[in-house]
Amino acid sequence: MKPLSELTRPNIWALKPYSCARDEFKGFKADVFLDANENPHSAPYNRYPDPLQEEVKAMIAPLKGIPTQNIFLGNGSDEAIDLPYRIFCRPGVDNVVAIDPTYGMYEVCADVNDVEYRKVSLGENFQLDPDKLLAACDENTKIIFICSPNNPTGNAFETEKIEKVIREFQGIVIVDEAYSEFSSQQPMRQLIAKYPNLIVLNTFSKAWGAAAIRLGMAFASVDIIALFNKVKYPYNVNKLTQEKAKEILSDVTLIHRQVRLILEEREHLMHSVSILPICNKVYPTDANFFLAEVTDAVSIYRYLVQKGIIVRNRSHIHLCGNCLRITIGTKEENTKLLAALRQY
Ligand code: PMP
Repeated sequence: MKPLSELTRPNIWALKPYSCARDEFKGFKADVFLDANENPHSAPYNRYPDPLQEEVKAMIAPLKGIPTQNIFLGNGSDEAIDLPYRIFCRPGVDNVVAIDPTYGMYEVCADVNDVEYRKVSLGENFQLDPDKLLAACDENTKIIFICSPNNPTGNAFETEKIEKVIREFQGIVIVDEAYSEFSSQQPMRQLIAKYPNLIVLNTFSKAWGAAAIRLGMAFASVDIIALFNKVKYPYNVNKLTQEKAKEILSDVTLIHRQVRLILEEREHLMHSVSILPICNKVYPTDANFFLAEVTDAVSIYRYLVQKGIIVRNRSHIHLCGNCLRITIGTKEENTKLLAALRQY
């Protein structure tokens, strides 16, 4: 890996971050707060939230096996996807490399930040070719994005292949593990201790059942987390979100139960879809969704919409011709979908 000082945009390396009112007296106990121009009435939401979300991180750390100082929390993982562009990529100069197809926000954030986005096609059965990814890089490639399990294909990539990319690439590798709770493959987050150029993303939006609260996680070296904290908005995670996250984190067994239910339903739904006459193929998955190649994705999608059932039409996406992406719902929702598809 190149030194972080060389990978980071010079203006960000030199940045003096905004100093929050509450940061300045750290270590002292106080009960009169006349420092932040807040309304003293209407407690507790009159006060700014903890800018570093220490209590939430303290609950995440033992669950994920990651020390609090290696955790960044953001407004969805979308914030943790956008920040590395702003930290590492000089607009109009640097580029990033990503697998294709994959999650659309990597490219949107590249476009917003005026950063060239280089796509490397997955191989047969959506497999990852580390050498092809590495060959697409040049001296201005700052980040490689690997989503595993991948959206929209559903498959997780072999850890050894991802590690080869991390070992051989001189810049930052972001492994987005938004769906790792649904995979039998070992997650990669523990490897941040081994690889200083690795950032692993997780989210509360999938297995944790809390897409509405907008809370995403990034795990990385202390030095990379310090850069995230320097560039983020001072109060990027609001108090309501922090409270709800603590509530969710205090009952982990509920989430584990829900994940087990989703996995059971996944097996049943995939099998039932695979034997429908309209289905050519279902692709194996390690996520809470799967890709089904059907006879006519556009018209089946429209038919389902008319029945009030929404799946994702991915037929225009690279390598996904005639594919619908189907999220695993409740038993009742899945039954409705199957009944509608049987009547098509
Ligand atoms: N990563 C992947 C691979 C996703 O599919 C999604 C959402 N569809 C996200 C990240 C976004 O997650 P969040 O809701 O935390 O912004």
